[in-house]
Amino acid sequence: MKENVKAKVREILDNYLELRNHRKTPERYAILDAVYSIKGHFSLEQLSETLLANNFRVSRATLYNTIRLFIELRLVVRHNFQGVTLYEAYYASNNHCHQICTICGKITEISLPGVTQSINEARLRRFRKDGFSLYIYGVCSSCQGKITKRKNKTQSLRNQK
Ligand SMILES: [Zn+2]
Ligand SMILES: [Zn+2]
Repeated sequence: MKENVKAKVREILDNYLELRNHRKTPERYAILDAVYSIKGHFSLEQLSETLLANNFRVSRATLYNTIRLFIELRLVVRHNFQGVTLYEAYYASNNHCHQICTICGKITEISLPGVTQSINEARLRRFRKDGFSLYIYGVCSSCQGKITKRKNKTQSLRNQK
């Protein structure tokens, strides 16, 4: 993640904490940095491991509450992929779309400029849009390959009879 993005998200957190008269605890900033240093989607466990690698030990409760705050501030987005909760840095993310394989659960990110453009241009009623998430469900190519192989196998077994 680019350094200017890290600076910008720190500023958003700064402003919020100052406005609310909350303490600027180093944990919150360490967690924010960790979130923005992870590429792609992550679980709370992975986030906690990243923090540990940076010699930062935070309790599960602190981690959870901080992530909740980040979601509120739209610094983080929470995904529910087939029942699995994963998080992702949201600020300056490229509004990518997610392809989810309903067989193996594999998630791939794709950018669909046409979709992004039409959402950007959409006029919403009494609503200021900040971003969007899009999930496309289907079957990935490797699962498709397995299905085809299995079909061919049954087919050739049938032919042998
Ligand atoms: Zn698959
Ligand atoms: Zn994503």
